[in-house]
Amino acid sequence: MCCESKRRFLLLYATQKGQAKAIAEEIWQQAGAHGLEADMHCISEMDKYNLETEKDPVVIVISTTGTGEPPDTARKFVKKIQDKTLPPDHFAHLQYGLLGLGDSEYMFFCNGGRTVDRRLQELGAQHFYDTGLADDCVGLELVVDPWIDGLWLALKEALQLQKEGMNNAVDAVSSSLSTAPHAVHELNLISEVQNLKLEDEAARGSDVLSQKLDDINLVAPARDTEPSLIHSVPPVSQSALNIPALPPEYIEVQFQDTQGENPHLSSLISEGTTFEVPVTKAVQLTREDAIKTALLLELDIADTAFEYQPGDAFCVICPNNVSEVEELLHILGLSEKGDDFVCVSVKQGTKKKGASRPQHIPERSTLKFILTWCLEIRAIPKKAFLRALVECTSNVGEKRRLQELCSRQGASDYTRFIRDSNVCLLDLLHAFPSCKPSLSLLIEHLPKLQTRFYSVSSSNLYQPGSLCFVFNVVEFPAGPSRPVSRKGVCTGWLAELVAPLLHPSENTLDTKGERFSTEKISIFPRPNNAFHLPADPSVPFIMVGPGTGISPFIGFLQHRQKLREQHTDWEFGETWLFFGCRHQDRDYLFKQVHYLTSILCFLENGTLTHLKVCFSRDTSTAEAARPKYVQDVLRLCAKEVARVLLKERGYFYVCGDKKHMADDVSDAIVDILSMEMEADRLEAMKILAMLREAKRYLQDVWS
Ligand code: FAD
Repeated sequence: MCCESKRRFLLLYATQKGQAKAIAEEIWQQAGAHGLEADMHCISEMDKYNLETEKDPVVIVISTTGTGEPPDTARKFVKKIQDKTLPPDHFAHLQYGLLGLGDSEYMFFCNGGRTVDRRLQELGAQHFYDTGLADDCVGLELVVDPWIDGLWLALKEALQLQKEGMNNAVDAVSSSLSTAPHAVHELNLISEVQNLKLEDEAARGSDVLSQKLDDINLVAPARDTEPSLIHSVPPVSQSALNIPALPPEYIEVQFQDTQGENPHLSSLISEGTTFEVPVTKAVQLTREDAIKTALLLELDIADTAFEYQPGDAFCVICPNNVSEVEELLHILGLSEKGDDFVCVSVKQGTKKKGASRPQHIPERSTLKFILTWCLEIRAIPKKAFLRALVECTSNVGEKRRLQELCSRQGASDYTRFIRDSNVCLLDLLHAFPSCKPSLSLLIEHLPKLQTRFYSVSSSNLYQPGSLCFVFNVVEFPAGPSRPVSRKGVCTGWLAELVAPLLHPSENTLDTKGERFSTEKISIFPRPNNAFHLPADPSVPFIMVGPGTGISPFIGFLQHRQKLREQHTDWEFGETWLFFGCRHQDRDYLFKQVHYLTSILCFLENGTLTHLKVCFSRDTSTAEAARPKYVQDVLRLCAKEVARVLLKERGYFYVCGDKKHMADDVSDAIVDILSMEMEADRLEAMKILAMLREAKRYLQDVWS
């Protein structure tokens, strides 16, 4: 019993969208095979663990959200450990390993994990294993897989040391891991040990395959020399494969003969109250020949308790595409059963430890409801899912290719043909037609369908009772791995939903000839957004929002206009807007919107003091050297930008595309600060960091 408890470790996860949880579950599952027992909890369940008295090693998997914040589920925990009165040896007894998840396209990569890691160190806790920082931008698995591989040896050593009562030996392990080159070597070594172990264990059910090329019937003709989703080339096609162990099945689905109602959408959301609100207006902000279609929707929130401030974002609960759901039902052989109620439960006698029904799946609902509202059917299949699909595939060539794609040897094929190609389950089922998964397998492996965030584009003062937002309809063209083009899950659905408002027929005109809609969507607020107007209206501010990034700034300007009307004796600071788009006459959003104030009106009535616009594709214009992008225009206004930020302690807001714009804008600001202060770039970067810290340089960016 005592020995058992010595092999225990505490596993905490802090998740926003479920990835950290899924990885923790993977660790939990693998722990058993290594003779260890993971005591797993969400980090928010603070009544179920106690770090103050924890003696066993602790493993923390934590993601990052927003602008470098820990996930909502970790807020309380972070607040607790950040208590300044805690002594520096508060966690001196604690040994831990931390895996941070993030996306390097965002500023403050993995900051959620880094924050917790830094603070635990400050409080005397010690690493028994090097911190891993996994990057969703290049593929989490590149760090996650080797990190988990190495974890077992490190855990066993930590537990061994603990068992031998060598309290001070933790320092030794920790310091041997803390020098970077050493640590990398150690990790590689551990991976190799793990590999060998896997091969040794082949006879005991671990899946190491030694199939020769001529044993199998490849999907594509042998003359193909280029690999593809369905076709491999040497060395992968000739390798013995290390593939993950088959995850145990744990879900059971039973069809029921009864009738009833599907659960309310609000039951799918744990983040707070949801509101079902009518879409009252839809306006296309771009011309038909624009590269992207931007739509503005107005929602009627008058009869609800929904509250927002300009600059807030909110969440839209969206369904999967109807025809994709139908197609999936067809492939599953369940077309006739879509409206039947199913009862989802945990399979009796499953080998999965602590198995429970995924929280996003109702216990009882129709099959269509699950596929439409609960599962992200467009998710990029994880390797464990591919591994499970192997077992449902009858064609031997298809089977081998699926095995390759989830194997170590096929890791780069997985990245190239699945991850980077954004392949989804339906794409796979088309490419591997003999693969016939069960419904329960889909429920086990497809993640929760996420709600989508949108920035509010209106002010509650200016348009009481309504909420506007703006979005581009996301389009994915057909490609080698995908036979058909697709639209974004949420934006494609919204565009279809409001089509009658955009292209009215007799049915959508009321008696006065006005367009009306009966469509409703479900939304809920997104808490804790710092992206708000300065509390003091006399403080100047600069807004940088190319494309749909202009959206929250329309709310800011509406709000400011109303405040100016209501408080003629107040002092108002300067307002600057930097906007950019491709073509002046195709996608200049809010230049003229017939029923709303356009930015030109804001400029005319003095709400907006300075408007700077640029057009990146209007090359025919006379001035060839005209600035193309917002960062170019910012540089042209360097003196004023520096004055607002440094002398007048103004605010700087950036909104829109994180991939191509936000970093270029912050680079421009560093240049401007360094030029205007006659300081070197390092000094300018420190000033920018200080502005961010003081929440005077604020970003609301998305991909
Ligand atoms: P999805 O189906 O989710 O696809 C979107 C992304 O998935 C693509 O960009 C791509 O990276 C990937 N992807 C999926 N499938 C494929 C494929 N087959 N091929 C290639 N890539 C693929 N958006 C706005 O337009 N306006 C806003 O005001 C706004 N505000 C936001 C505020 C916040 C705080 C955040 C986090 C995001 C915001 N967004 C905004 C982004 C928005 O939440 C959605 O991500 C966006 O609208 C796309 O959603 P979708 O479901 O239509 O696309």
